[in-house]
Amino acid sequence: MKYSLSIGKIVGIQVQIHWTFLILIAWIIFSNLSAGNTAEQTFWAVLFVLAIFVCVTLHEFGHALAARRYGIETQDITLLPIGGLARLTSMPEKPVEELVVALAGPAVNIVISLLIYPFLDIEQAVAATINLRAVDGESFLFSLMAVNLWLAVFNMIPAFPMDGGRVLRALLCFRMERATATRIAAGVGQFLAIGFVILGFFGGNPFLIFIGFFIFLGAQGEAELAQAKSALQGYRVADVVMRDFSALQTHAPIHAAVELLLNGQSRNFLVLENDLPVGTLSRDEIVRALSQHGAAVPVEHVMNTDVQYLPAEMPLEEAWQRMQQHRVEFAPVMQGQRLVGVVDVENIAEFMMVQNALKLPASQPNFSFKTT
Ligand SMILES: [Zn+2]
Repeated sequence: MKYSLSIGKIVGIQVQIHWTFLILIAWIIFSNLSAGNTAEQTFWAVLFVLAIFVCVTLHEFGHALAARRYGIETQDITLLPIGGLARLTSMPEKPVEELVVALAGPAVNIVISLLIYPFLDIEQAVAATINLRAVDGESFLFSLMAVNLWLAVFNMIPAFPMDGGRVLRALLCFRMERATATRIAAGVGQFLAIGFVILGFFGGNPFLIFIGFFIFLGAQGEAELAQAKSALQGYRVADVVMRDFSALQTHAPIHAAVELLLNGQSRNFLVLENDLPVGTLSRDEIVRALSQHGAAVPVEHVMNTDVQYLPAEMPLEEAWQRMQQHRVEFAPVMQGQRLVGVVDVENIAEFMMVQNALKLPASQPNFSFKTT
């Protein structure tokens, strides 16, 4: 994620902090000190927030490690002021697996609560009123346990794309098609999101308003993605291949690419060596190469070498997912060892729009995994 500070890899997963998170810490220090609180009170307030975010991180690791059991890797885990975000490379196809991955996060918070419990002084805990705005050494553990229980409960609200919404979709998937289940779960999520916004507005809680918007947009995105993917169902790469495309040889100078760009409609080009694709060049890459290296640089020095070779018989859904994962807009299509054409994401997007307009029967969509 952009504007994030990496804090290293844990069990092979990149963990990073978004810069807005640092603002949250600075705000806590500032608001404590300006309210006349002592340095000690401020220290506990900061420590408490950091402890909460350690728990949020562990929650995300719950999802990530559960997904790993099903062979799904996590690109990274990012900490934002509103929670954590684990980016999984895909979602499990089977409802049971999705259920396990979704439940694994809240389960971590329950486990943390149970681990804290033996260390509590129960009499003191019962007598104490939880005030999360004034946590000190004595109330620290009790408050942390309360927050973990709250995290588990809050995330289980069936508001897609929160964990509870994923649980709802997985359960619905046992009874119906995935696209229908996603549509229902997204609808429930948006309904609850509007409730959050209204509650936040009248209760004067900006956090709830923010979460409401986050859920609303997230649910909308998931529903659109589900619809998009269902449009690709049953098609193969061969169905969208463009046999008419422009290519360059590896030793050609970049100004040859500029001429192709200016003379035709194409914005992406294949780079060939012995009639086989070894790289790609987009308009942006050409412009960048031109300004950095001049017009004479050979294309092989500046081309993108992350080439995704798509077999013509590959399911279109899988090809699209692969292109998203590798963030490539353009890929050569192969029939065995032979180059037969290209596909680009714009071309697939148009195909999806046409399919959606024709309203073909929908089934089996899914894509990325976000969670708070
Ligand atoms: Zn979660």
